[in-house]
Amino acid sequence: MSFRLAIVGRPNVGKSTLFNRLVGRRLALVDDQPGVTRDLRESEGRIGPLRFTVLDTAGLEDATDESLPGRMRRLTERAVAEADACLFLIDARAGVTATDEVFADILRRRAGEVILAANKAEGQAGAAGIAEAWGLGLGEPVALSAEHGEGLADLAAALAPLI
Ligand code: GDP
Ligand code: MG
Repeated sequence: MSFRLAIVGRPNVGKSTLFNRLVGRRLALVDDQPGVTRDLRESEGRIGPLRFTVLDTAGLEDATDESLPGRMRRLTERAVAEADACLFLIDARAGVTATDEVFADILRRRAGEVILAANKAEGQAGAAGIAEAWGLGLGEPVALSAEHGEGLADLAAALAPLI
């Protein structure tokens, strides 16, 4: 059975952009409006020699927010529960937000591996956010730019021991 990697994080951090990059096709809708991923998307992903199943999820606003439709929440929670590993994305340019902290709490309590990645890290704009991400207590953040395809070798290095 294929290793299942769920991309999770609050809306607009670049989950769908990374999903498309890993799948090699634009299957998921990317938008600068938060919350456009309404359902779960799953496909075969690859980085270099690594092969796995990758899941794009709807962004959970936070652990208790009831504004998110129940179906989205349930799908995302199930994806997280059933994944072999979660790739937790934050926005390096925005830094760690309160919502990211709530998410990190949930992921820390969950059994299974969590890879922390700080996306939108192209150029220097993400440096402070990457430093802040260490404070989430989820290990070394992988600096990524899903849009520009940067940091994928580091992501592969974090993923390879788990698969
Ligand atoms: P999602 O809501 O987490 O799925 O986020 P999306 O993938 O829909 O992306 C949200 C916005 O962030 C879009 O406008 C993307 O073009 C933008 N974005 C995604 N990845 C990057 C990146 O690496 N760098 C920058 N600067 N923008 C990005
Ligand atoms: Mg999305």
